[in-house]
Amino acid sequence: MQQVVVIEQYGRYLADVANQHQKCPLSRALVKILAASKTRTQEEVGVLLEQGHRLFGENRVQEADAKWPDLKARYPDIALHMIGPLQSNKVAEAVRLFDVIETLDRPKLLYALDDEASKQGKRQAVMVQVNIGEEPQKAGVAPDALPAFIADCRKVAHIELRGLMCVPPAGIPPAPYFALMQQWQREYDLAELSMGMSGDWQEAVRFGATEIRLGTALFGPRES
Ligand SMILES: *Cc1c(COP(=O)(O)O)cnc(C)c1O
Repeated sequence: MQQVVVIEQYGRYLADVANQHQKCPLSRALVKILAASKTRTQEEVGVLLEQGHRLFGENRVQEADAKWPDLKARYPDIALHMIGPLQSNKVAEAVRLFDVIETLDRPKLLYALDDEASKQGKRQAVMVQVNIGEEPQKAGVAPDALPAFIADCRKVAHIELRGLMCVPPAGIPPAPYFALMQQWQREYDLAELSMGMSGDWQEAVRFGATEIRLGTALFGPRES
């Protein structure tokens, strides 16, 4: 997409999100926009950086590693989140690269992250991804397993549990799923709730999302 279009879209979304937020007396925190920048070039994300935007999400360690280290050196206040599935053998790079890993979804990964964060002298911020629709092909902790997994996350020294994240099933209304996520966020007293994408972010904000993840809405359709 052309730079000027991205800038216009970005401005419009900042205003729309602020507007939607004002209509939601139930939400407790300001809604942040995470720019989902998978498949986008350094030039494309650079357009948003120049507008002052600093929160980005990537789906793949390798792609993030090629795209972000020099941008982070230029803009030290960038916050980079991992929003795609994380393999255990990529944990060292992930801990080095990402400020928040939103896709923590299994005990093995929790302990690998804790070990690696300890080695790197860091406390790794994470969110737990919930497989809210209980879809076999999707990542995330099953709702039944969530209480025990949250307790495990809170026991390890080098992990800071910030919140919950989900991608609800496609093609059906997301409201009931968002409502459950909000209920759990409150029950477990978590600061962050990452939910809502280009197609359903208004609904997510209505249910208290603290972060929405926008890709196509900001950058236009993805080619791959
Ligand atoms: C790509 C992606 C998004 C953004 O999707 P859009 O529909 O393009 O807004 C959000 N969250 C995750 C986990 C993604 O992979």
